[in-house]
Amino acid sequence: MSQRTFSIIKPDAVRNGYTGAILAEIQKAGFRLVSIKKQSISVKQAEGFYAVHAARPFFKDLCAFMASGPLYLLVLEKDNAIADLCKLMGATNPANADEGAIRKKFAGSIQENAIHGSDGDETAAFEIGYWFAGYELV
Ligand code: GDP
Repeated sequence: MSQRTFSIIKPDAVRNGYTGAILAEIQKAGFRLVSIKKQSISVKQAEGFYAVHAARPFFKDLCAFMASGPLYLLVLEKDNAIADLCKLMGATNPANADEGAIRKKFAGSIQENAIHGSDGDETAAFEIGYWFAGYELV
């Protein structure tokens, strides 16, 4: 069944000029681009987005990184979108990502790992609603 997921092309990938190549990988994997916008986010906005990670030792660095430059916010759609995007991204640490995964090809470190993808149904609903208004998703 068709499912939506949320993704971010993170500031490292945008800085490194990988936006087009990452979008091509996403499209090649069969995702429909429901919505896309380029945005520079504040530390406060990043903290709200990553609130589930507030207790983690890397939280402050992660939020500063996410606010360090423009990023792309994406809503994607296909059958099994959430699990398929996780597979396409590869492991959080690019050193552990499978050959061919986006993080293997385009990421430099466990923090600056090129792409975000929702990890479940509830997370996807929260994340899409956090960044997009309903009228942007028609
Ligand atoms: P994801 O689902 O693969 O994005 O990983 P998590 O939800 O566990 O973590 C969210 C984000 O926090 C990751 O994508 C990384 O950017 C960052 N992160 C995760 N683990 C670490 C870590 O051990 N150190 C640092 N510096 N950043 C991390």
